[in-house]
Amino acid sequence: MQSGKIRMLLVGNGGREHAIAWKLAQSALVEHIYVVPGNGGTAGLSKVTNVDGIGQEDFAALTKFAAENSIGLLVPGPEAPLVAGIADYFKQHAPGVKCFGPSLGAARMEGSKTFSKDFMQRHNIPTAAYRNFSDYEEARKYLDEVSHDVVIKASGLAAGKGVIIPATKEEAQKALTEIMQDKEFGAAGDEVVIEEFLEGDELSILSFSDGSTIRSLPPAQDHKRIFDGDQGPNTGGMGTYAPTRIAPQSVIDEVHETILQPTIDGMKKEGIPFVGVLFTGLMMTKSGAKTLEYNVRFGDPETQSLLSLMKTDLASIMLACADGNLSTKELEVWPRSAVTVVVAAGGYPGSYVKGTLMKLDPAPEDVVLFHAGTTLVDGSLKTSGGRVIASTAIAETLEEAISKAYSGVKLIHFEGMQYRKDIAGRALKKTTS
Ligand code: AMP
Repeated sequence: MQSGKIRMLLVGNGGREHAIAWKLAQSALVEHIYVVPGNGGTAGLSKVTNVDGIGQEDFAALTKFAAENSIGLLVPGPEAPLVAGIADYFKQHAPGVKCFGPSLGAARMEGSKTFSKDFMQRHNIPTAAYRNFSDYEEARKYLDEVSHDVVIKASGLAAGKGVIIPATKEEAQKALTEIMQDKEFGAAGDEVVIEEFLEGDELSILSFSDGSTIRSLPPAQDHKRIFDGDQGPNTGGMGTYAPTRIAPQSVIDEVHETILQPTIDGMKKEGIPFVGVLFTGLMMTKSGAKTLEYNVRFGDPETQSLLSLMKTDLASIMLACADGNLSTKELEVWPRSAVTVVVAAGGYPGSYVKGTLMKLDPAPEDVVLFHAGTTLVDGSLKTSGGRVIASTAIAETLEEAISKAYSGVKLIHFEGMQYRKDIAGRALKKTTS
C-alpha cells in the first residue's frame, strides 16, 4: 500500500456493487478498488478494476488475490458469500485484511429466518407472531388450526423467492408442501416460519454498525412487483426512493430505540457482534413498527438511492465499522430526495434474453446510471441479466428527483427494455414527511 491509501476488494456484480464502487472511488482514502467480478458499469469507473475468473464464494482464490494485491479492506456485496462465512475465512487465512461484513454467526440473521425470529423473541424486538417448524406434519396441522392470515417463509436463502403470502388455506397448504416436501428451494425449505400476516406500509432502514454503535441512513422504500400499481410477480426490486414519507422522524427515532439498537445490543450480548450494513425490513402497522426481516448487507436497489444521498465518505465509515470506532464518526446525508428507477430486460422476472446490444446517452451531473446486468464485450455494452441498469437522481424535492430519474431512463436504449412508471408515485400522496 502506498501513500497511506487503502486498496479494496469488492465482491459482487449488481447495481448495488456499482453504487458501492462509485461511492468508494470518490474517497481520498482509497487507492484502488478491485471488483470480483464487477459489471459493465464498474468497468468504466476510474480507480476501479474488474477481476475475472474468481468465483464469489471461492474464498481460497479471493484470499490469494488479496495477498497478491495488498488489499486492506474486503467488502462482500451479496449475502451468499457472507452466509457462507467469507469474513471468518479471511480472519483465519488473511488476518491482515479487514472485513466490512458480518461473521458467519452474525450472518445467520439473514441466512436463517427461524434463527432471526427466535432472536427477535429473545430480545423483545417487535415482530409478527410466528412459529417455526422443521416437521411437515406439524406445520400442516398448525395451518389447519390457525385463525389469522399467514405468511409462509422458507428459513434459508432462497434468492428472495422463499416468502409466500397465500390468499386461502388451500394455497397455504400447497405452499407448505412445495417448500417442505417438494423442496422447491432446496435445503432452504428444511425449516419454515409460519407467521401472522401484517398489514401496513413497508420501509427499509440500512444501518452501519461496528458491533456496538449504529448509524442509519434515511428510510427507503422498494417496489418489488414488476408492473405499475404493484401488480404482477415479485422481482429483485424495480425501484426505490428515499427518504420515505411513510413515517415521521419521531417514529423512525422510536424504531431506533425499540428495534435497531436492541438488535445490535442483542447480537453483541450473544457473542455475534454485527459489523457491516444491517438492512432491517419493517412494516408500519396500526399497532406500531414491526420487524419483517434482517438482511446482513446493502439492499439492491436501495443502495443506489442511499449512497447518492450520503455525504460522508463511505470508505471512512466502512473502516470505522471494521475497526470498531464508529462512535467517533458522524453519518451525514444530503437533505435531498433520491429516486432510482430500474430498467429490466423484457420478460423479467420470467425468462428473458441476454446479450442484447445497449446504447447509453451521456448522463447529466445529477443523474447516475448504475449498471446491474451489463457487460462490456470488445468495447460494446451488452445486457447480461434481468435487472439491467438503473437511473438514479437526487434533487431538492421528491417530485424533482422523480422527474430527473425518469429523464435518465430516456438515456437508456436496448430492445425489450421495461420499467415501472410509478416509482415513488405513492409517496406523493402521503402527507407525513
Ligand atoms: P421477507 O424476506 O421476510 O422480508 O419477506 C419478503 C416480503 O414479504 C416482505 O418485503 C413483505 O412484503 C412480505 N412479508 C413478509 N412477512 C410478512 C408479514 N408477516 N406480513 C405481510 N407481508 C409480509
